[in-house]
Formats: sequence, C-alpha cells, structure tokens
Amino acid sequence: MSALFHRSCTANLPVADTGNGCYLVDTDGKKYLDACGGAAVSCLGHSDAAVRDAIRDQLDRLPFAHTGFFTSQAAESLAELLVHHAPDGIARMYPVSGGSEAVEAAIKLARQYFLETGQPTRHRIIARRQSYHGNTLGALAAGGNMWRRAPFSDLMVETSHISPCYAYRDRQDGETQEAYGLRVADELETEIQRLGPGTVMAFIAEPVVGATAGAVPAVPGYFRRIRDICDRHGILLILDEVMCGMGRTGTLFACEQDGIAPDIVTIAKGLGAGYQPVGAMLCSARIYDAIRDGSGFFQHGHTYIGHPMAMAAALAVLTRLTDGQTLPRVARAGDLLHSALHDRLGQHPHVGDIRGRGLFRGIELVADRATKEPFDPALDLHKRIKANAMQDGLMCYPMGGTIDGQRGDHILLAPPFIVTDDQIGQIADILAGAIDRAIA
Ligand code: PMP
Repeated sequence: MSALFHRSCTANLPVADTGNGCYLVDTDGKKYLDACGGAAVSCLGHSDAAVRDAIRDQLDRLPFAHTGFFTSQAAESLAELLVHHAPDGIARMYPVSGGSEAVEAAIKLARQYFLETGQPTRHRIIARRQSYHGNTLGALAAGGNMWRRAPFSDLMVETSHISPCYAYRDRQDGETQEAYGLRVADELETEIQRLGPGTVMAFIAEPVVGATAGAVPAVPGYFRRIRDICDRHGILLILDEVMCGMGRTGTLFACEQDGIAPDIVTIAKGLGAGYQPVGAMLCSARIYDAIRDGSGFFQHGHTYIGHPMAMAAALAVLTRLTDGQTLPRVARAGDLLHSALHDRLGQHPHVGDIRGRGLFRGIELVADRATKEPFDPALDLHKRIKANAMQDGLMCYPMGGTIDGQRGDHILLAPPFIVTDDQIGQIADILAGAIDRAIA
C-alpha cells in the first residue's frame, strides 16, 4: 500500500519513470505523448539539454542562498529579461515558487499598495465566476468556483464575481462578438458601483481562460473596456497568466494580443517548464515605488522564493522563449493543431466548439451540436475521454462539471512547443478515437 497522500484518494495512477521530448514513459515501459504539458507546464518537452545544464551548473556553483541575505546572479538576470519582454509599464519581478503563490503575492501587493498610498478602505477584489486562480486561501477566494471555495468560505477575503467572457456560449441571438464583450465587461462597472468605488482594490482575470473553460480567449475589445473601467476608478488590473502566459498562446504574454497592459501579472507553469517549481509576480513601477517610498518592505515572502536553481531554470527557459524563433513556431504549430482538430472533429456531432490561441486549444463536447446542450454531468465524459486517451498513450487535460453554470465537458490541449507536425496529427487522431469510444 502506498504511503503517498494523493489528492484523489482513490486514484490508481501509472508511475512515471522517464521523460524524453514530447513523451513520458511509465515503469511498465508504456509511452505517453504529452499533449497537455501536464497542465500547460512542460513547454520545452521533458529533456531540454540547455535547461538541464543550467540547473546542473547552478547546483555545482550555488544551490541555495536565502533572499534575506543575498540576491543571485540568476535571479537578477531573470528579472531583467522578464521585465524587458513584459507588457508596457511592468518594471519589477517578484519571484515565487508557483502559480497560487504568485496570485497570493499579487493580492497582498494590491492591498499593501492601497494601504501605503492612504486608501485603506480599498480591500475588495472583483473576479469572474467559474474562474480558477489557485488553491491558497487568497487565490482560492479570488477564484469563482463555489464548490472549491465552499469548505473554506469562512476564511476568505471579500471577493465578488462577475460574468466571464464566454462568447461561444453566452452570446445572445443577433449580438455581435464586440457588443457581447462590452456588455459583459460593463458588469465590472455595475459591480464597482454596487460595492462602492472606494472599497475595491483589484480586478483579476485570465486573458485566455485555461483550466476551468478550455482555452477561451476574450472577444476583441473586452479587455480594453475592462482596462478603461479600472483606470476610471483607480482599481488595479491583475492578469493571471499562470497558465496562458510564457508563450503558450504564441506571444510571450497572452495579454499582448488584447492590446492592454496590466498593473500586475502573475506567471508560473511555463516559466519553469516543469524543470523547477517557480513562478513570478510582475508589477508596475508605480506600485513598486509606492512600497519602496512607503514602508520599504513587502509584507509577503516564503523561504524558497528566488531559489537559485529555480531562477537558473527559468532563465534558461525564458532565454529560449525569447530567441525569436520559438514563439513564431508556437503560432505556426498552433494553427496546424487547430486545423488538425477541425479536420478530425469539426463536423463531429458531439463537438460544440474548438477554440484557443497558439498551442493552447480547447474542445467542448456537447450532447446536441445545434443547441449546445451539454452531456449529463453524471456521465463524467471528460474523465472517460482522458482515461481512453491514456490507454492509447496520449495525455490530454480534462475538465467538466455543472457547478456555478460551468456547464459541459471540455478537453484542453497544450503540447510542448517542440511538438512535431506528425505528433500534431497523432494528437488529433488519438483524441478523436478517445472521444468516440467515450460517447459510444
Ligand atoms: N492561476 C491559474 C490561471 C491556474 O491555471 C493555476 C493552476 N492551474 C493557478 C493559478 C495555480 O497555480 P499552481 O497550481 O502552480 O499553484
């Protein structure tokens, strides 16, 4: 019997043994084509020599130096490179060890910014329903999944939730994409007025929604309206790019494609690419300067922030992502993946939508293609598709449920950026078979 406390107490998982390129191999020698990067993590595949060498060099040179005593060359270089490539206005990088920690830091920074600039009544967050921003208490409070929040609701910072921007599902008859985007963005204005403008500190959202909806980008114009509303009320815009950032959508930051710049942005997953647990919170000069000129001390931190080996890994990953070749390839491979999915599944009677950007694609399964009626949630279709795909040697990321209107079953694809054209074809083929067997 295993002594390992697995999240799913009934899980019976294969034991991963080795990783090479886009493949993982278990201890029985079975090979799995990784079409989801785990959870959009492994963007450079499982055996990148440059990242491995960077970690080894750092291990030989200096495995750990506490940030209370030292900075490190790797952390300094990573911050410089990240800020250089970040959206306009971003001036500082705060290192963390993962996505939830990045969101937690963002929430604390927003609060501290308003405390130090003499606006102590600003403590509320507005987020979107059906969103996921992590599992620590602050990040969980920001998230809009009431089922996840329920056991801990007594412990949470005050957050309210507006509609997400899911044009594929929620657009009214005859409404243009743009009109729909502005209508749902304007819910932010309404919510700010309801709560009182002087009480709200931040709005948080994912530019392309990953784990809870399956790679859903906002419609054009949505985030520009959100940015305007935040500016009008002096509210900070936090963009959570933990899943969709680091080149996943074809640009280093997903929000580049929405034409806006956040005040704070969180990244993780693809930053360490699976080689090290690492994330970062990036913020504007205005916010950083307010803390520096105020108390001079950010009241948040963990022992392992800025771990030199995590920084070295992230620096090697980011160097690759900014080499001028990798991201154009993501955009091209993403188009190919989209066409392959359309070829195999575009006319499928139970595929309601295929969407996404770059190598971040989602497939929605529906009982009825015309009405987009979802399958009975009791069928757990997404889990059956995942199980079939695993049987056939393919890793894809399932999601589903009906909680809080988060209807239907989705499959998320986020393969490594080194995926070949052949492998893209295999992903579409194996997935189509897994879907057919799950529905039959
Ligand atoms: N934000 C988003 C958008 C995420 O998708 C996730 C993880 N799925 C997190 C935050 C939390 O990241 P982590 O699991 O690294 O704590």
